[in-house]
Amino acid sequence: MALEISSTLLARLLNEAEKTPDREVCGLLFGSPTRILDFSRCRNVAPDPRCAFEIDPVPLIAAHKAARAGGPAIVGCYHSHPCGAAIPSARDAAAATPDDSIWLIMAGRDASFYRAAENGPVEGRFVAVRHEIVEL
Ligand SMILES: [Zn+2]
Repeated sequence: MALEISSTLLARLLNEAEKTPDREVCGLLFGSPTRILDFSRCRNVAPDPRCAFEIDPVPLIAAHKAARAGGPAIVGCYHSHPCGAAIPSARDAAAATPDDSIWLIMAGRDASFYRAAENGPVEGRFVAVRHEIVEL
């Protein structure tokens, strides 16, 4: 089954990435395993944010707590590759937990979705996910 995301939401994410060409943007994705419904941008606290990302742990923990209390479910994360392609890097593979979470990677106007999985065919850690852009 394809993963659904609205054209509006995807455009907002791509615009955010495009407006920040000097560093990787990152954040959390909310929704269900088959549909991205919202996102929350988080600070990139990586030591070198130009070519790496690390989601600020403070909003990350807060979002997990909120989800456990009945708030929006975290289904994955997103980040941009300002000077690369919209495919997972070896660094992404090293950082990913094989927990089936969704990874959205953006480069320019390209966006691609993956699931983090043990022994995935992409970088040994990701499975490409077909996505469908829906109008809301
Ligand atoms: Zn990356």
